[in-house]
Amino acid sequence: MQLGSDKISSYSSDIPSLSPLALIDLQKLMFKLEWMRKQVDIRDPYQSPYGAEWDSMTMDTFINKQLWTKGAKDSIESACRCVLGVELSQISVLYFISYVSAAGGLKNLVEATEYTAQEYKIVGGAQQISQKLAASLPPSCVQLQQPVSKIRQQENGVFVTTEKGDVYSCDRLVLAIPPNMTKRIQFDPILPFSRRELTKRMPAGDLTKIIVTYREAFWRKAGLSGEFVTNGGPSVSTECDRGPLCIVYDATSARGNAAIVAFLGGAPAIQWRNQKEEDRRSAVLKSLSDFLGPEALNYLDYAEKDWGVEPYNEGSPVCTVGPGAMAYFSKGLRLPFNRIHFAGSESATAWCGYMSGAVQSGLRAANEVLFRLRPQAVSAQELASTAYGPSSFLPPQTKPRRSKSRTFVKVTLGLGVVVAIVIMGKKLASSLNEK
Ligand SMILES: Cc1cc2nc3c(=O)[nH]c(=O)nc-3n(C[C@H](O)[C@H](O)[C@H](O)COP(=O)(O)OP(=O)(O)OC[C@H]3O[C@@H](n4cnc5c(N)ncnc54)[C@H](O)[C@@H]3O)c2cc1C
Repeated sequence: MQLGSDKISSYSSDIPSLSPLALIDLQKLMFKLEWMRKQVDIRDPYQSPYGAEWDSMTMDTFINKQLWTKGAKDSIESACRCVLGVELSQISVLYFISYVSAAGGLKNLVEATEYTAQEYKIVGGAQQISQKLAASLPPSCVQLQQPVSKIRQQENGVFVTTEKGDVYSCDRLVLAIPPNMTKRIQFDPILPFSRRELTKRMPAGDLTKIIVTYREAFWRKAGLSGEFVTNGGPSVSTECDRGPLCIVYDATSARGNAAIVAFLGGAPAIQWRNQKEEDRRSAVLKSLSDFLGPEALNYLDYAEKDWGVEPYNEGSPVCTVGPGAMAYFSKGLRLPFNRIHFAGSESATAWCGYMSGAVQSGLRAANEVLFRLRPQAVSAQELASTAYGPSSFLPPQTKPRRSKSRTFVKVTLGLGVVVAIVIMGKKLASSLNEK
């Protein structure tokens, strides 16, 4: 790893090789984040006791208040770049806490062990999920290269026009595109204000993925995992603040084809996107060789994918929320609008931003549609998770906030300790004087 300074270090336990102070600092933050996420109801985070307060603050401000060491700050900054593709200054504390909560904790997002986000790899690649689903449907059901440009709702149904001019009609529509992409579609009537606000205020992150293939997994011979996290290290370009990378994994395939997968996230991804391809490539390879040795330069193939330049994504891996917009989050993402239902990973309450989240949101939207078309086919349990469920959008939180009383207890205890020390000191001084 390369966090806290530009020095590269390796370690063999699951405790990162940060200084003891940085480790304590980081652990303290983990406890704090765990406490915070338990205060947030993921179904509508803004209605939680601290919703408005945490929505008004960026993660950068929060982290600078909470953390003292550069090692701990670098760790959180790198996690944010790898997991969300953004800088800490781009997202609100409430959004970050909600995202962490949907995954069951920060550890689940950043680790590659059992029950965490990076637990599985799909033999043959994740695209097979879409390909196999498409193959199971009649051919005309899946239309590729048909971007939707207009959606019109009428009394008798929904009419969808594509850029080619084809028109499709249906009873109910599930819109499963990233929230930022809603802006490319013209709606008649226009969408409710909460969805429109989110469309404006939920941009996609920036994450570029690079796969470098090798004749053999040479790093394994040297006893290295091939996995590292970095603050980027020093930059080789005057136009980029730091080196390009944030996280790297061993991506050797199930059949043994040796490969490394490397990610550029947040500001470095944006800055390096604007460099010449060959300059970006040599900066990436230099960084790989700094960590894995000079053999990293002898690659077979180098491939990169930047979703920031894809017209129907405009970024990746997920759309995130800056300060002041979480009030529109739950309704904007999930509340149906007449015959339109909204799905997509961003709208999930479990594993938001991941494939599992996309599936959860799809099931929820399907149950909403089914409830409207065949109400008797939806169980009470299935209905509960939809926008038509009784507690889907929580009433405003009326519980008293705990922070003031906690501060009072802390101050009282602190003063008590100080007074006790002063009294003991005085007693000691007078007994010494008597002697
Ligand atoms: C580099 C990277 C690594 C990732 N790693 C993982 C991982 O390890 N595990 C994991 O679970 N998830 C991972 N993800 C996230 C995962 O890919 C997403 O969470 C998931 O694809 C979201 O699914 P979705 O159906 O909500 O949206 P998407 O997969 O984004 O699908 C939305 C589709 O809508 C299309 N679209 C947009 N506008 C229109 C329009 N006007 N008309 C028609 N179509 C339109 C888009 O082209 C797109 O195909 C990763 C993402 C990236 C970018």
